[in-house]
Order: sequence, then structure tokens, then C-alpha cells
Amino acid sequence: MNKKWTIENIREYVTKNSESKLLSTEYHGFSQKLLFKCSCGQNFEKTFTKFKGNNQRSCSDCVAPRPSR
Ligand SMILES: [Zn+2]
Repeated sequence: MNKKWTIENIREYVTKNSESKLLSTEYHGFSQKLLFKCSCGQNFEKTFTKFKGNNQRSCSDCVAPRPSR
């Protein structure tokens, strides 16, 4: 099943499933990078596929594993 994503759907998904916010106001397809704002305040770009599928729901700083733990 292929759910058709719209910018409204995506914004809702991002709000419900992450600490980040969606800043982009248009969505043109899976290959498009969307602009997000991480909960740490940093903006980051990612395709929605990556955001959704790879557990990359924050900026690269917050996603990066902590080496000390
Ligand atoms: Zn962050």
C-alpha cells in the first residue's frame, strides 16, 4: 500500500513521532529534502524517507551516538 503523503500529513507525522518540527511548506516527492528544526534548535535537511525510515529524527548532532556510553 502506498500512502500518499502531503505536506500536512508529514507535518502531523513529524509532530507526533519526533521532537523535531517541520519547517518546509511544500512537498514534491520522496527525493526532496525537507527542512526540519531539531529540538536542540538546529535546522537540518533530510528526505522524508530517511527521516521516517532510518530513525534519523533529529539533527546529525543529536542523532550521533555518544562515544563515551
Ligand atoms: Zn539536534
